[in-house]
Amino acid sequence: MILDSFGRNHNYLRISLTDNCNLRCFYCMPEEEYEFTPASRLMQPDEIESISKIFVAQGVNKIRLTGGEPLVRKDAGKIILSLSKLPVKLTLTTNGTRVHEFIELLKEANIQTLNISLDTLQSDRFMLLTRRDQFKLVYDNIQLLIRNGFQVKVNVVVMKGMNDGEINDFIEWTKDTPIQIRFIEFMPFSGNRWTSNKVFTWQEILDLVQTKYPIVRLDDEIHDTAKKYTVPGHAGSFAVISTMTSPFCSGCNRMRLTADGKMKNCLFSKEETDLLTAFRNGEDILPLIQKSIASKAKELGGQFTADFEKVHAEEIQNRSMITIGG
Ligand code: SAM
Ligand code: SF4
Repeated sequence: MILDSFGRNHNYLRISLTDNCNLRCFYCMPEEEYEFTPASRLMQPDEIESISKIFVAQGVNKIRLTGGEPLVRKDAGKIILSLSKLPVKLTLTTNGTRVHEFIELLKEANIQTLNISLDTLQSDRFMLLTRRDQFKLVYDNIQLLIRNGFQVKVNVVVMKGMNDGEINDFIEWTKDTPIQIRFIEFMPFSGNRWTSNKVFTWQEILDLVQTKYPIVRLDDEIHDTAKKYTVPGHAGSFAVISTMTSPFCSGCNRMRLTADGKMKNCLFSKEETDLLTAFRNGEDILPLIQKSIASKAKELGGQFTADFEKVHAEEIQNRSMITIGG
């Protein structure tokens, strides 16, 4: 078991495969020219497998691959297949642009659920948000996944004045489509132009949905970060991830590995533990993992509180989201 000082057991590992991406979402990738980490400094497939096994031996039973965009990595398929042999629930978060190239491999890896990010249902707004003209490709790939029997969760980062007006369009999508829409409160990261007045809160989301639809709350699963709802009669459901207004830190079971092999004990932690260098030097990395988790803060990396209107993004010491792995 990997326990922290608050008794939380950590059995969920999120691994970033790369800080590279084929989209340019402004809330994730800093605007200034950004140099992606060279391949030699990234964890290699055999290193990812060996390091994952060390976590699995300590009780990790779920691994999520993320990034950057995990599927732009040339050896992504090899990594997915090798991790699929471990006794874990394997899943990934992707922007969906390459899913059609991986569909058979995802089946072979027995992946059942995927999170696809799509913040708008309008192609011109997609271009504005991601600086790439790929709305149709992502939308079609979501349909492709559904046709092939995958459970799809669609991640929507809600930003006031940007896409909050589309919340009920996403709800309408759940009427006949068996997807789960996950509205995520906009979070502050290095270089992402976050200000508190751009946060569209959990409560505002619910209020808006209820102007048009009756909703019922669904049961939470243990360690769930999302509060789930459905509109009676709809094929799909929706959820809200309220990191900024009502964080779910008390049940946190997550650990993160950046693409360059640094362990973060929280999405918002400023400290990192360099597992990859130690691993390459032949050291036992388990004590490093345990020490990292033992020092985990109670809430939000110890850097701010849920009183989000008082948060000053420039005071938070962290990486940009694209270099952490969301
Ligand atoms: N490229 C993949 C994708 O877009 O799904 C995986 C990496 S991305 C960093 C993981 C998730 O983090 C995405 O759903 C993205 O929308 C979310 N994300 C990125 N920046 C965020 C922010 N500032 N606030 C909330 N969610 C954010
Ligand atoms: Fe790329 Fe995903 Fe970040 Fe968008 S959210 S820039 S798709 S890593």
